[in-house]
Amino acid sequence: MLQTAPIFLTEIANLPMQVQPENYTDAVLISHDQLNLAAFPPELLAAKPLLIFVEPLAYATFIPHHKKKLVYILSSQRHFAIECHKNGFTVVNLFTEGDLTGVLADFLAQYPNLNLTCMQPSEWDTRSEIESIALKFSARVNIIPNNFFIADPNKFKAKIKKGYRLETFYRELRRQTGYLMDGNNPVGGKWNYDKENRKSLPKKIAIPAISGFTPDPVTQEVITFVDKFLPDSFGQTQGFNLAVSRQQAIELAQQFILDRLNSFGPFEDAIKTGEPFLFHSVLSIYLNNGLLLPQEICEMSIDAYNEGKAALNSVEGLIRQIIGWREYVRVYYEAMMPDVRQSNHFGFTHNLPQMYWDGDTDLKCLQDAIGNAIDYAYTHHIQRLMVLSNFSNLTFSNPIQLNQWFWVAYADAYEWVVLPNVLGMSTFADGGVLASKPYVSGGNYINKMSDCCSKCKYDVKLKTGEKACPFNYLYWNFVDVHRQDFSENGRVSLMTNMYEAKSTEEKAAIRDSADRFIQKIKR
Ligand code: SF4
Repeated sequence: MLQTAPIFLTEIANLPMQVQPENYTDAVLISHDQLNLAAFPPELLAAKPLLIFVEPLAYATFIPHHKKKLVYILSSQRHFAIECHKNGFTVVNLFTEGDLTGVLADFLAQYPNLNLTCMQPSEWDTRSEIESIALKFSARVNIIPNNFFIADPNKFKAKIKKGYRLETFYRELRRQTGYLMDGNNPVGGKWNYDKENRKSLPKKIAIPAISGFTPDPVTQEVITFVDKFLPDSFGQTQGFNLAVSRQQAIELAQQFILDRLNSFGPFEDAIKTGEPFLFHSVLSIYLNNGLLLPQEICEMSIDAYNEGKAALNSVEGLIRQIIGWREYVRVYYEAMMPDVRQSNHFGFTHNLPQMYWDGDTDLKCLQDAIGNAIDYAYTHHIQRLMVLSNFSNLTFSNPIQLNQWFWVAYADAYEWVVLPNVLGMSTFADGGVLASKPYVSGGNYINKMSDCCSKCKYDVKLKTGEKACPFNYLYWNFVDVHRQDFSENGRVSLMTNMYEAKSTEEKAAIRDSADRFIQKIKR
């Protein structure tokens, strides 16, 4: 039996009515994060197999994903199903209140002549579901490699636990793709332009707007569905204006290349209150469900460099994010799952502060970052790292809870990308497999890179006491509590030496301020 959700009123509702799966011998599953037929082998699609889309409600109730993320995932999947239908494919859209396994098993049992091809899912749990289906229906189910990434994880996986770091991986990917390469050497003579990419934002700088899209009837129907059936999810649907089709996503990519890429590099680490996007691409949302492919964004940005429209430091910074960091974290995920899910190197047991869920805080930098997450299901990477992860570390919050919050809060968040960033990169929960130290810093760096401190009730220049910036005393308290880890690490042993040089009175004041603050926010 083909099932559809009861409230589907738009085009998508009609698709199953035209389908007679018994007339087909071959079907291809299109996962919610594989919305691009260009990534599938052409020979698989040549004979126009049946395309199967699944809407498993259990995915949306498993954790309370941001409502805008749910709208985005479901609406872009439905738009893509409709587009495939218009391009001559027969499409089945299966809705279930349960999970993928149940609905697919029922479908395959109902149509015994049908063989199903699935591209390996990026996320572990979905992959396990597909593998269980393959086990049950053996020869009828074929799993093909995931083609939405550039690097072959099998080539790198074994090296990850042996300290294979980003920089080496990135250079290998540059050579593999030929991106920004001049023979065997990097274009411009340098692999890295980080030194040019750490500028704070000038006071008077024009920040280009990013286009939004008015929800069409398909999206409006999904918004109604999410509001009605998933009211307890994070954030709100109000103001949803993301692209939901490849055509719209391409428009946004072109707009980024023209309007923002050139300034992206210098200001990629800057924060400005009330400006959630600055010069960032905001394309990860579309890359991570396949509407855009990583190669095409890299090639568009290199074209802009070759045409003199974007500086090398900006283009290299973007290429580094896409074929460096994005591919690297995916390889890490493949190498480290599933045990890494329970990582908590420092043994932090405090619950993630309530402010992450409701935005209720008087720390301006956190208020702005969490507010952006609630309003847009997005904050740029430096707010994620320098503010949100930093504060979680400094308050000894459980990194597994922080990982879940990131997964819930962001429209671009899938486990393969969130987990390495949180449990590997920012919290050091994996004990140093991915990074050489936890990301912690005091208020000074936030002050240098943002305008938050000038609008905050706390004083970033004060080190202890009620009016002092909490990041300041929390930072030194962290160094004190974890001095063992710090003193053994060459990169940060300097900080333990600086802490040791403080007077007994100052150390006591740091400890007292930190204890009071942590008690106050504890839940
Ligand atoms: Fe954040 Fe401290 Fe600056 Fe306030 S003063 S915005 S808490 S860094």
